[in-house]
Amino acid sequence: MLFIRCSFCHQLVFRPFYSSHKAKHTELRADGQMTDHITVHPSGRYQGSLENVPQVYYHAKCGGGTGMPEEIIRSYLVNPFLYSDRSFCCGCNDYVPTDELFWVETNESLLEYKNGLKRAYIRRYGAPPPKREV
Ligand SMILES: [Zn+2]
Ligand SMILES: [Zn+2]
Repeated sequence: MLFIRCSFCHQLVFRPFYSSHKAKHTELRADGQMTDHITVHPSGRYQGSLENVPQVYYHAKCGGGTGMPEEIIRSYLVNPFLYSDRSFCCGCNDYVPTDELFWVETNESLLEYKNGLKRAYIRRYGAPPPKREV
């Protein structure tokens, strides 16, 4: 394939340019967070209400709270295998393990929460989604 569908901006990118293209998305901003995160294409994201979905988490080690971006929530609700087991903490200005992060709304760790979504996914579809080339 000559083109790669970018997992960050969902544009088609000419393969030889993909690594430099991707580097722009993953470049760290002044606050330590990557410029962009991979997401599910807007048309494939979870479209339902987020009313009962936890959206803010805290890190007991530093006391910091962080809001989960909506496009990321709507992405892992349809594909809980998309993200690694680290998430950004605004208190640490760094990515920390999700078993250290707890939802303000439910007190559940992000790791447990994500594992629950993964189990539900496998119950529904029988297997994890095929790994994408990123
Ligand atoms: Zn891109
Ligand atoms: Zn922290």
